[in-house]
Amino acid sequence: MLVYTIAEVRQKVREWKKAGLTIGLVPTMGALHDGHKSLITKSVSKCDKTIVSVFVNPIQFCAGEDLDKYPRTLNADNELCEQNGVDIVFAPSAKEMYGDDYTISHDYLTYVIPPSSYVNKLCGKSRIGHFDGVCTVVNKLFNIAEPDYAFFGEKDRQQLIVLQKMVKDLNIPLQIIPCPTVREESGLALSSRNKYLSAEDKENALALSKILFHIKDCYNNGVTDIKSLSAVADIYLNESHALEYLDFRDSDDLTEKQVADNKTIVFIALKIGDVRLIDNLALKD
Ligand code: AMP
Repeated sequence: MLVYTIAEVRQKVREWKKAGLTIGLVPTMGALHDGHKSLITKSVSKCDKTIVSVFVNPIQFCAGEDLDKYPRTLNADNELCEQNGVDIVFAPSAKEMYGDDYTISHDYLTYVIPPSSYVNKLCGKSRIGHFDGVCTVVNKLFNIAEPDYAFFGEKDRQQLIVLQKMVKDLNIPLQIIPCPTVREESGLALSSRNKYLSAEDKENALALSKILFHIKDCYNNGVTDIKSLSAVADIYLNESHALEYLDFRDSDDLTEKQVADNKTIVFIALKIGDVRLIDNLALKD
């Protein structure tokens, strides 16, 4: 069932709660692919009812980013959800979520500011205010859908870690279920932004996963020195890539690793032309 208003979601949620049913929430920005589908399948199998939100959240985009051209495919998204047992597809307008004020300013609408030590690095370093926008919208979605479980992908690992911290620190009564990254056979992590890539770009985009998997191989062969592990990137990077970061971070709190260990996540972001792609990999199997 495709629903556009908060009131309609709330009414269904009330009925379900009254009947003692569990609710799973899968927040997305739409343009759904098999990565999203894996979260949906997990929710449908774990929960009595599943709500998928499809909302391109304007306040998590920074100036000059791809808000206007972000792919919007609501009919196809709704179809995918219907075919996979979703009970509600919630696709609000920005006005429904933020009222008329949403055009005023990003600062005016962000109420949940995560700790700077979690967001002053990796994607948060270049995307100032991005995680404030993410935490604010996810809080709103939690308040609207009152889920028992919320499903997030490891593809956006910094987001997952920030949201886990938020849920813990704010005592939000739900459990976050992390879901593994779904990849093409080539290794490329599925992403709605892959739609922007030409065939040649896509070939160049393989550098992300190749670097990560090669680093993991080196680690499994006993290399723990960060400098040596980082040097792997040079094998795959060419003039088509602008590397934003290749970072080794702790899986709990994102502190920087001096030496790689089983709690290390390797994070990478790079730009191919105008398209910014991210990926990450845990060194432990
Ligand atoms: P997005 O629509 O890009 O905001 O993503 C919505 C949710 O789907 C987030 O929790 C993402 O981490 C997750 N997701 C996106 N791509 C993948 C993928 N390739 N594998 C697993 N989860 C993903």
